[in-house]
Amino acid sequence: MCFAKLFGKKPLRLPHPEEPVNYLYTIENTDIKAVIKEWLAVWQVPEIFHWYWLDVDVQVSIRYDYPAVTFSETREMFIRPEWANPGVLSHENSHISYSLLTQEAKANFEESYKLFKDTSLIKLVTEYNMKKNSAWRDSIIEIHADCYRYLGSQLPDSLKAFYPRLFSSIG
Ligand SMILES: [Zn+2]
Repeated sequence: MCFAKLFGKKPLRLPHPEEPVNYLYTIENTDIKAVIKEWLAVWQVPEIFHWYWLDVDVQVSIRYDYPAVTFSETREMFIRPEWANPGVLSHENSHISYSLLTQEAKANFEESYKLFKDTSLIKLVTEYNMKKNSAWRDSIIEIHADCYRYLGSQLPDSLKAFYPRLFSSIG
């Protein structure tokens, strides 16, 4: 018996579900600029910050075994072609955004996250990621990135303050 079905209510879903890995994409045929532009539009990044994100040095590369590796200090990103999608990009760009927070703001994010971690949307993110990797919940940086990656503009408003240049103009 599913009450959601019975009353015609849609079950809660992640606003930005994970895109499947696509092995048809190669270094040669991946249009990374198009992926970046799609991310800016779909995740509703404020236009005043587009220049900042377009300036990140995103390289389609098989140098690393991970889907993507980002050096926040130099704003340099290596993304594998099969993973070059807006979701992975949004996760990586969250790391850059996080690096713009002060130590105090990072600590405040952790405290604020605790207040929201049992809300239904955040729980969807948590449960989804815990299935993939139970170590995930121990990394506040990965939590920060995936809350943005899967929820986008549906993040709770008070958490948006901890995403410089994605939502917040501070940083
Ligand atoms: Zn990450």
